[in-house]
Amino acid sequence: MSDQIMDIFLRTGALMEGHFVLTSGLHSGKYFQCAQLLQYPDYTEFAARELLLKLSPLQVDLVISPALGGIVIGYEVARQLGVRSIFAERKEGPLVLRRGFKIEKGEKCLVIEDVVTTGGSTQEVIDVVLANGGEVAAAGVLVDRSGGRANFRYKMASLIQVDVKNWQPDECPLCKQNIPFDKPGSRPIKR
Ligand SMILES: [Zn+2]
Repeated sequence: MSDQIMDIFLRTGALMEGHFVLTSGLHSGKYFQCAQLLQYPDYTEFAARELLLKLSPLQVDLVISPALGGIVIGYEVARQLGVRSIFAERKEGPLVLRRGFKIEKGEKCLVIEDVVTTGGSTQEVIDVVLANGGEVAAAGVLVDRSGGRANFRYKMASLIQVDVKNWQPDECPLCKQNIPFDKPGSRPIKR
């Protein structure tokens, strides 16, 4: 089953190989851009279904995601569960609920995100749930590239786990080979 998922990541260009500068400033030979997969509703539907299979059994009142990356997959997961979907967003500082979104006291929340690298934004969403009186039922993510570092005390599932090596610029083997940088989205993997 995860082969089929990996296949979709490669085919849609959601997983790319090359030489990338991550937003952290680190260099990497792989880049994930889940939006490439999430632009296809049928693949998104499939990915959400597979993620829910991994999380079941599950009883939740709502799905909450961090903006922007988590919104599309969070919405599709919520649609399949028949519950509402909200998101937390950042203006300045930590993620917060805006737009009139509310979590009622005791509501069971499913946290859904596209990619977990350090787990920072997932933890922030968990904090938002708890600060608003909700309960965290579980967390689900499409891609866990944390190498096992993301651990939230809650039931957690990911569709694929990848241990992607990142390097400091002065230690990057791709730089040493003078391999030019790729822009994410410019070079999807061909099968
Ligand atoms: Zn490099």
